[in-house]
Order: sequence, then structure tokens, then C-alpha cells
Amino acid sequence: MAAPLKPVNDQRSMVGKSEETQQGSDRNGKHYGLIVVAHPDDETLWTGGYLLMHPEWSWYIACLTRSSDPDRAPKFRQVLRRYGAAGEMADMDDGPEQTPLPKDLLKSTILSLLMRTSFDLILTHGAHGEYTRHRRHEETGEAVLSLWLEGRITTSSLWRFAYHDRQKTILPQAEAHADRIFTLPEPIWQEKYAVITGLYGFDPLSWEARTTPRREAFLCFSFPNAISNSTTLPNG
Ligand SMILES: [Zn+2]
Repeated sequence: MAAPLKPVNDQRSMVGKSEETQQGSDRNGKHYGLIVVAHPDDETLWTGGYLLMHPEWSWYIACLTRSSDPDRAPKFRQVLRRYGAAGEMADMDDGPEQTPLPKDLLKSTILSLLMRTSFDLILTHGAHGEYTRHRRHEETGEAVLSLWLEGRITTSSLWRFAYHDRQKTILPQAEAHADRIFTLPEPIWQEKYAVITGLYGFDPLSWEARTTPRREAFLCFSFPNAISNSTTLPNG
């Protein structure tokens, strides 16, 4: 099991940081983690094991869709309680046609869900989503990245989920070249699987249950400048 991430106190190239938002940790040393996801269940599929391994952190999970979904919204609340996390949902369009959402709307919606803007770690979707293909995943990750680059949310570490499905030919699995890959201890994976099949109620034969990764992978960025030179930066 990896040690919890420690906040980095390097002053290099932080964008728009004010004195009081220099780092997410408070005076008691509490570490603040933010997870921004498109859908209720993404927090569990892509980083549920990491959440379960670090209950000492103060986690906040922002979910951009389904707040009016009578099935998924109450389940998300249950899942928050299971993780000991706080969180909030929005109700952005999640129709099957995946009509592109305005970037500014995505960003303002994310900000509207947050109780604070400074964190020790932010986790969100990868540039290409985690499988082929859900536009909301890509849009969410891009909006979070953009807010960070603009200094409207601050963190010394931003991690993007790193999974692929080889163009839909396999279930999503950890990217081999990810910066961090955590192989979940069996009890942790079982707990994560129980969230998907128990709290969310996905059938064991569902795509979600069969996907539930045993290995969690992340591309990790310490400073906005590092990501702006990266090939993972989305176009536009
Ligand atoms: Zn999703």
C-alpha cells in the first residue's frame, strides 16, 4: 500500500495563488482531497480503492450529473457516507447523445459545487476518458485542468485517471505507462466491488461490475507548468 500523498511546499510556478490558499492542509495537518467526476459511480470505479486506503483524508466528491436522478442520487449519498466523504452533485445534461457542453458552464458548475478551492490533491478524469467513449468524462477532466491552470482551484498535485479499453476491445484497465499504479489489496478491492454491486446495485454481470479495476492508475502532475507541456493536455 502506498503512503498517503504529502503536500508539496514548492513555490514554483503556481498560478494565481494567494497567501491563504498556499496549500490545502489546515493547521491541524488535515489533508484535503477533491475528486471531480462526471457520474455517480466514477469515483468508485476509477479511484475507490485509493479513497478506501486513505480514510484519514478529508475527501470532497463533486459529481456533475444526475442530482435529479431518483435512483442514482440517493445511492451517491450512501456512497459518500461509506467513504466518509462530503460531496455534492449537479444536474448537467447526461443524455445519450452526449451533446458537447459549453466549457464555461462546466467550469462554473464545478466551482458552484465546491466548499473550498484549495486542496492537497485533486483527482479527475483523464484526457481521453477511461473508455471509448464518454464525452462527459473528457469534458470534466478538461474543465478541472483548465480551472487549475487559471488558478481558480489550487493544488500541488493533480492526478488524472489513467485507463484504456483498447478502442472498446477490452474492459477498461490501468494504463501501463501511468505515473502511479496501485494494485489494490484484496480486501480493499472487495470493498470497492461491494460499493458497485451493493450500494450502487449493479448486477455482477454488468459492465460496471465486470470493469471495477483491481489496479488503479493515475497520470500525476505537480504544477500547472508541468501539464501545459504535456501531451495529455487536450487541444483547444
Ligand atoms: Zn462516468
